[in-house]
Amino acid sequence: MLNFAVVDLIYKKNIPRVMRERWLMVWQNAAAKFFTALLLLTVAAVALYPVFAHRVIRIDGLSADSVEPIDDRVRGGTSEAVVTVDKNGRINLDCQLTKAYRWPYCEASLLVAEPESGLDLSKFERIRIALRSSGEEPQFWRLYLRNYDPAYSRCDEPLSHKVNELIVRPADTGNMVDVPMSAFQVASWWINDFKVPVQQALPQFDRVFQLEFASSEVMPAGEHRLQVDYVEFHGKWISQEHYYLLIIAVWVVSMLTYLLLMHVQMRAQLRSARQRQQQLSELNLMLKLRNEEVEYQAKYDPLTGALNRYGARALMLDMWRPTKAETEGAMILLDIDHFKRINDTYGHLVGDEVLQHLAHRCRSLIPANCRLVRWGGEEFMLLCPDMTLYRAQYVAEQLRSEFEQTIWPLNIAVTASFGVVKLGVGENMADTICRADVALYQAKQNGRNCVCLG
Ligand code: GH3
Ligand code: MG
Ligand code: MG
Repeated sequence: MLNFAVVDLIYKKNIPRVMRERWLMVWQNAAAKFFTALLLLTVAAVALYPVFAHRVIRIDGLSADSVEPIDDRVRGGTSEAVVTVDKNGRINLDCQLTKAYRWPYCEASLLVAEPESGLDLSKFERIRIALRSSGEEPQFWRLYLRNYDPAYSRCDEPLSHKVNELIVRPADTGNMVDVPMSAFQVASWWINDFKVPVQQALPQFDRVFQLEFASSEVMPAGEHRLQVDYVEFHGKWISQEHYYLLIIAVWVVSMLTYLLLMHVQMRAQLRSARQRQQQLSELNLMLKLRNEEVEYQAKYDPLTGALNRYGARALMLDMWRPTKAETEGAMILLDIDHFKRINDTYGHLVGDEVLQHLAHRCRSLIPANCRLVRWGGEEFMLLCPDMTLYRAQYVAEQLRSEFEQTIWPLNIAVTASFGVVKLGVGENMADTICRADVALYQAKQNGRNCVCLG
């Protein structure tokens, strides 16, 4: 019988393998979905770059840290600047410009940060200003972006911070100024006053902390008004080049991760397949051994180790094959004499021992081409293909005399009777056995412990 517990065990051992295969499928499905999603995201990211990357910083009267008026009275002039901020953040600069000072001016100053931590506007591409002015023409206004840099900035001198200057003329631009940041220039008076070396005389926006809207010297004396709704700086969070590099990097990392995980999975699968192969060959070997065991149990008598009738079938069919040209072979039937008495006197276990002993002696004495069969009870058959009748008679006689002299268990005297026949030409198996039986019966009749030919 097949050992189902072992098969069950092998099946159970395979559960992790089955789970791993399922997990691999789930994982591959997830990977396929991930890459499809990544592809769609990439297309969307490329198409929507202008939207995604667009960056705006908006400054008005409410978002600034402080909004202050400045005028030339600090320099002995009489111009007067008044600055107000309305609830929408609009900055109003009302300027009473007089020519008492040589370079009269009014200003609205917006502080947006501490100088050391000014805004980095260096990556911004455009500036957009919503403003309007009123007063006698020409209306020439300036916007200063004041930049801090330890290379030229001094704490004790507010004017030392770089002055990036943009000339704004509402008559030309209308209410909306929209110009590139490259339209700024460094004010020449700042370069002259501070004797700035030429390397530092270029516009610089990496730490802008102050915005100033100022009147210019060409504006006539009188009342002027400047209203600024807001100032916007437009740029990109990331350059197009860096943006595409980032997308490529995401793909490369994803692909590498995928390949790495695939590699790990494949290795695990390979290991699992090898284990499975090993298990199968172990199972195969075990089944082979089991099969041999089952075959042995089916063919051999468990008590004596002699062939049983089923085990002898193949040899008997061969010996009595109808197509066999010439019949050569002999059969010996042997039966223990008065075996019932042995059982009755010493018990069945001793009887069994005698049977085992007899089978053992037979096997060690008979020629190699003879096979011992337990025909039933205490009766055995010797099948000897390719053996003459007289040779078979000799074998039987030898066994008989050997039994007579053998020391049996408990020193019991055991003898046997023999019926010997040669296979008849064209004779069937049943007839041969019948003749052997008759010969055996004859031996019993002759007083037992003898050999009779049939
Ligand atoms: P004979 O000389 O005429 O053959 O007499 P016998 O007593 O040997 O023959 P009989 O047929 O009367 O008895 C055979 C006995 O063998 C009966 C049975 O209980 C015994 N026997 C059969 N098989 C076994 C076995 O496997 N073990 C044992 N201990 N006894 C067995
Ligand atoms: Mg007997
Ligand atoms: Mg008998």
